[in-house]
Amino acid sequence: MAEIKRSIETLCVQGGYSPKNGEPRQIPIIQSTTFKYATSEDMGKLFDLEASGYFYSRLQNPTCDTVAARICALEGGSAAMLTSSGQAANFFAVFNIASAGDHVVASSAIYGGTYNLFAVTMKRMGIDFTFVSPDASEEELEAAFRPETKAVFGETIANPALTVLDIELFAKVAHRHGVPLIIDNTFATPVNCRPFEWGADIVTHSTTKYMDGHGSAVGGCIVDSGRFDWTKSAEKFPGLCTPDDSYHGITYVERFGIEGAYITKATAQLMRDFGCTQSPQSAFILGLGLESLHVRMERHCENALAIAKHLAAHEKVEWVTYPGLEGDKYYHLAEKYMPNGTCGVVSFGVKGGRAAAEKFMKALTLGAIETHVADARTCCLHPASATHRQMNDDELRAAGVSPDLIRYSCGIENKDDLIADIDAALASI
Ligand SMILES: *Cc1c(COP(=O)(O)O)cnc(C)c1O
Repeated sequence: MAEIKRSIETLCVQGGYSPKNGEPRQIPIIQSTTFKYATSEDMGKLFDLEASGYFYSRLQNPTCDTVAARICALEGGSAAMLTSSGQAANFFAVFNIASAGDHVVASSAIYGGTYNLFAVTMKRMGIDFTFVSPDASEEELEAAFRPETKAVFGETIANPALTVLDIELFAKVAHRHGVPLIIDNTFATPVNCRPFEWGADIVTHSTTKYMDGHGSAVGGCIVDSGRFDWTKSAEKFPGLCTPDDSYHGITYVERFGIEGAYITKATAQLMRDFGCTQSPQSAFILGLGLESLHVRMERHCENALAIAKHLAAHEKVEWVTYPGLEGDKYYHLAEKYMPNGTCGVVSFGVKGGRAAAEKFMKALTLGAIETHVADARTCCLHPASATHRQMNDDELRAAGVSPDLIRYSCGIENKDDLIADIDAALASI
């Protein structure tokens, strides 16, 4: 049957799941750790990756796979998997193709947790990272590569710096060196940007944010475009292009093709060994959230633009960053990659610096102080004293986070109510 091309709105609601006659209309929660087989031989085929099927929910579960298939459809990928968190997704995405002695080029403007994962924890595993400016020129990017470089990593819209990555440029340089570009698309979501259309090869998500959208379930996702040809630089990717002894010598690219090798390996090896699996309950909640993602993103962006404009005109506000705001440093890149809207997060500094920022946040009644971001309820955070507190001032600056930065995540409440709340809090400083 020819594949019918569906729009993003339809995929949010119905992607990945088409129940047959008499089956549940909503994605069923398969709350089972294990699955029954008639013979040991049947089950043995699954362990040898000769047949596909479920045997233990640490590796794969039908509810998780259905929701992953929806996100895969939204991103336009070839295969996807859910993980227990966004952190696990980014760890797996890199560790699946990089080992001790290898090197990765990453944008310096990334989520604080990812920075720590790369610069501290994965460095302890022997993987070296070079952090480059998200605004790096082609020459500066080139200079960051080494013979042992295995991937390039960046965020579509960085959390919380709100820089917009030139995906096409990063992809071009990555491909020239025979390595994939991994994009964390958490803030834009596939509703506003589909990185594969601009040359990215792997997309990751913290589904904890807009995808769930209600602050209910921590989760992550990895999607493969299926277009990166690992065999063209086979010497760089022995894990995909040479036999896996822990699976009776199968070679992933041969058995599963370039469309399936990467996610199959991440599931068969990394999920088996690390077990960062998402629970079926969380996957169900994520699936519910996805059904309204397209409607919510529109409102998040509408509210954020109104608030960014209001803040920019306010006498007590020192500066505002919002890539959807005309005049913003990243406005033109945002127009190119996200013509329909960027995200619901606005960063700004109030006059009076850190002390004034704290006073302002305390006075808000609708915007709650949370380490969270990107859900239906408005929240705000002072990263320098929370998510990014492990960084010194130089690292903060490289990550695009000034000490006075307030990250204000617009929910989907009424924008006039939010502006009134902001005005009252600004009046208190
Ligand atoms: C929150 C976040 C993460 C980490 O995700 P968790 O689900 O909290 O583990 C990674 N990347 C970005 C851009 C994020 O905003």
